[in-house]
Amino acid sequence: MTLTGKKGLVLGVANKRSLAWAIAKRASEAGAELALTFQGERLEENVRELAGTLARESLIVPCDVAADDQIEALFARIRESMGRLDFVVHGAAFAPREALSAPFSQTTREAFRMALDISAYSLVALARGAQPLMTEGGSLLTLTYLGAERVLPNYNVMGVAKAALECSVRYLAADLGPQNIRVNAISAGPVKTLAAAGISGFSDILGVYRERAPLRRNTESGEVGDTGVFLIGDAARGITGEVLYVDGGYHVMGM
Ligand code: NAP
Repeated sequence: MTLTGKKGLVLGVANKRSLAWAIAKRASEAGAELALTFQGERLEENVRELAGTLARESLIVPCDVAADDQIEALFARIRESMGRLDFVVHGAAFAPREALSAPFSQTTREAFRMALDISAYSLVALARGAQPLMTEGGSLLTLTYLGAERVLPNYNVMGVAKAALECSVRYLAADLGPQNIRVNAISAGPVKTLAAAGISGFSDILGVYRERAPLRRNTESGEVGDTGVFLIGDAARGITGEVLYVDGGYHVMGM
């Protein structure tokens, strides 16, 4: 699977455990040139340090996906420095911590709005920004979780946001397909990342997967990285509007 000659944007790298980083690393190893974003100064150093370990230099740009002006500035920088884009990896998600531990019926209007805005609407905004730069077709990839379809303890409003995200994948795929822009999602099994640490009882979920998934183990971020490179690249040129599970098969189990 080669991405030689391809130019990509990756959002959602917080640290070396981030699923977006796993995809960025594999994409770079496969030959892609990358732009990476960070949200707020707190994460800039992390992202710059990680980017320094890649084979070729990356463009590093700040971007809070909740801010339209930052999204606009991001694509202006990419146009200026890279000229065009072949793929976007969307690995940003957020819900206020209390919404991931209190009973779901206690979700506030603001927590609901924030979760949907940052975790789902942002894909639509990024697709719109990337579209004019994808002059030779392209690929958008996002990250979702089984909590979009089934109830998992404390996933709560994030499940609602992931359902909106997966539905947005299908509408965007239909909208952008005529321009040969594909839109897909990876539904990853649980991986211990910064975002996952905010979900109460996350370690218990890891244990259940180890016990019941057909492969009897937890998902490794490198597995998500490899599938990401597949979906981004030409090997997946016939696939769009899809949610592909990288979860050791857990989603097929009834009990
Ligand atoms: P992560 O390393 O914490 O990555 C989440 C990223 O989203 C962080 O870089 C975070 O930055 C960023 N983000 C939050 N709000 C943002 C905003 N307003 N603008 C820009 N970026 C923002 O955790 P992860 O687990 O790799 O998450 C990546 C994606 O995978 C998420 O969509 C997550 O739901 C999904 N996923 C994760 C798992 C899992 O078990 N880990 C399973 C399935 C799907 P800050 O740190 O600054 O907030």
